[in-house]
Amino acid sequence: MRPTYQVTELLGDGIGAELSRAIHELAAALPIDLQFRAVDLSLENRRARKAAIYDEAVEAVTGTGVALKYPTITAEESPNQVLRRRLDLSVIHRPVYTIPGVPTNFRRELDLDIVRIATGGTYDDPGRMIGDGGAVSLRIVERRPVTEAARYAFNLARKTSKKVTSSSKHTIQKATDGLFERVATEVAGQFPEVAHNTELFDALLGKVIMAPEKFQIVLVLNEYGDFLSDMACGLAGSLGIGASANLAFDAAAVVRVALFDAAHGTAPDIAGQNKANPTAIFLALSMLLYQVGEIELGRTVKGATLDLLREGVRTGDLGGKETTESFTAAVAAELGRRLAGAGLAPAAPAGR
Ligand code: NAD
Repeated sequence: MRPTYQVTELLGDGIGAELSRAIHELAAALPIDLQFRAVDLSLENRRARKAAIYDEAVEAVTGTGVALKYPTITAEESPNQVLRRRLDLSVIHRPVYTIPGVPTNFRRELDLDIVRIATGGTYDDPGRMIGDGGAVSLRIVERRPVTEAARYAFNLARKTSKKVTSSSKHTIQKATDGLFERVATEVAGQFPEVAHNTELFDALLGKVIMAPEKFQIVLVLNEYGDFLSDMACGLAGSLGIGASANLAFDAAAVVRVALFDAAHGTAPDIAGQNKANPTAIFLALSMLLYQVGEIELGRTVKGATLDLLREGVRTGDLGGKETTESFTAAVAAELGRRLAGAGLAPAAPAGR
């Protein structure tokens, strides 16, 4: 019997519908059953159903444990922020790597797994004025999300034989960043086989540019992760085609809920025109497959997508001629070929 997984699909706006169709086509080429439970987070439905639609989304994601989210318009509220808070998504895992065929100003190869604490730092306190001449905001670092992120980073390192670099400004921010580094070092003690070093964050930025091969998994507090992700994406030239895992943990710091999404937005300028590049959402699906334990399938989805890009099979945003549909068909066919070659018959005949 084929393994079956329940996946919540959080539908959004703009190119979301096209991306969802592309995901279903890819899913049909897999030798497993992904049973999608759709929740409509489009702006129209959010306005009509208000808090009730988020209740439904939270219940669905908590039930299935894994979710794929399509881009949503930020209007009255940011659905990402609401979901992050309501699902207690405390850690973001953002792989960033140079992708063959994606134009970049950077000449080196980069392959980073950024593990970022998604809460606290300076982002949870909007701050306040002190009279007219100054302002202050609280910087918050909490042991629990740091422990969760550190355990996740070290587990990832154990599985992938990579090393972990924790990075902060602990020499200056002795209380907050000092706590972060102490927790990282405590957790490192539970993973003696994993190499761990620390870098001051300003130095890390320079070193990632000069010697990217020295870094693999980087563990960072919220705002540092924000800066590092965008810098790394800029270096990789792939601001629009990255994907992330947003993670919530149980009391034993094991992943309880994982929500995967593309970094790009709803692309209203090309919505409904069969021009959207589904690469990021395919990479999000690949991460989801890793999360449910289908490591080989996750690797194959990623490999088929990236190898086609390398061969020049690309959508218009990357200078290619493919449409959303033709690129998806090419990836599904390649996936089918690879799975058949590995003795895993695809569920659907590989077309094209
Ligand atoms: P955007 O990412 O939607 O678009 C920026 C540019 O990149 C556009 O030219 C667009 O056509 C292009 N682009 C984006 N994704 C693409 C894809 N998959 N294939 C081909 N081209 C693509 O950013 P924006 O215009 O600043 O935002 C539009 C809307 O998306 C806003 O309402 C914003 O709030 C929302 N947004 C949502 C998320 C999310 O849900 N995760 C993230 C970012 C922005």
